[in-house]
Amino acid sequence: MPRYNLFVLPGDGIGPEVMAEVEKIAAWFTREGIVQFEIDKGLVGGAAYDAHKTAISDADMARAQAADAVLLAAVGGPKWDGVPYEVRPEAGLLRLRKDMNLFANLRPAICYPALADASSLKRELVDGLDLMIVRELTGGVYFGEPKQIIDLGNGQRRGIDTQVYDTYEIERIGRIAFELARKRRNKVTSSDKRNVMKSGVLWNEVITALHAREYKDVELEHQLADALGMQLVRRPKQFDVIVTDNLFGDMLSDVAAMLTGSLGMLPSASLGEKNAKGETRKALYEPVHGSAPDIAGKGIANPIAMIGSFGMVLRYSFNLGVLADRIEKAISDVLEKGLRTADIAGGATKILSTSQMGDAILARLQAVV
Ligand code: NAD
Repeated sequence: MPRYNLFVLPGDGIGPEVMAEVEKIAAWFTREGIVQFEIDKGLVGGAAYDAHKTAISDADMARAQAADAVLLAAVGGPKWDGVPYEVRPEAGLLRLRKDMNLFANLRPAICYPALADASSLKRELVDGLDLMIVRELTGGVYFGEPKQIIDLGNGQRRGIDTQVYDTYEIERIGRIAFELARKRRNKVTSSDKRNVMKSGVLWNEVITALHAREYKDVELEHQLADALGMQLVRRPKQFDVIVTDNLFGDMLSDVAAMLTGSLGMLPSASLGEKNAKGETRKALYEPVHGSAPDIAGKGIANPIAMIGSFGMVLRYSFNLGVLADRIEKAISDVLEKGLRTADIAGGATKILSTSQMGDAILARLQAVV
């Protein structure tokens, strides 16, 4: 039986509620002898501040670095609005991303047929949608120097951000995209603004050369980022894997997210370099949603994004794609049966609590595994 160490950070608000549903599923896998999960739990965000006056302790950071994968729920909430800036809840998340050097953000946008009517687009455009946005996360205009506001001395000020990418940064994100595509529908769309930006010219050249050198078997196309934004809402099913920089990826992944209808449904992964043995990567998995303080403690949060994030752990960190497929199938079947949490209720008559939804998915999983 494969054995993996999973470091779990439930965080704040609805975090512990949705994480509990993942723990149920992981415990079942272990009980059945399918995979042995050794789950280690830590504190992040407001929960870490309350315990240690920091957004994540050095000890938990070291455990995150040592784990086979890290699974985080969400951080933040009004309770910590007044805490010092360096130890605000989000600082825990930022430290995890920075110290683990997580340079690739993977955001799948999957539209389950049963929820296609929740999308702002017409059903026929999104029904069965399954695309993946790969966003570069540690470079580009959010981090480039100089980054400042200078006083021009004539009553004017100048704001400066610098878009900067080196070859190695483009190559490593490109590799992630091409390798993902090989496990999916074998197509990569690379996006930049080479018509107006030098960094876009380099991005385009590096991706094209990498493709010719190592990934000729994958179909590659290039789309300018503005045109791609338009295509995402016009004909989103043309895409398989989209790879783009930090800024464009930030915007395009939010657009893609809304194609699927609900925040409570969206998982994500952030990947770093391969470890010394070259077998696994540093990785952090988390739902796209936040800590939802407005519904925390009520037991009504949708656990599907959290469970989907666990599915991504299985697929991308543990190479257990078959089990990830079964989790996705169990989610799809449960939705198909009309079972809903409040956020995706639509016209459903019976609304499930967080734990009832977790139980329904687990019961379906038990039937298909
Ligand atoms: P949010 O994602 O927490 O909530 C937005 C809306 O979506 C709310 O109405 C909420 O009830 C609903 N929602 C979110 N997840 C849901 C789920 N699983 N099931 C049902 N409904 C769900 O975003 P926000 O309100 O802007 O932020 C709340 C707090 O979360 C803030 O402190 C913010 O800083 C933090 N936040 C954290 C992360 C993270 O941990 N990665 C991401 C975004 C926001």
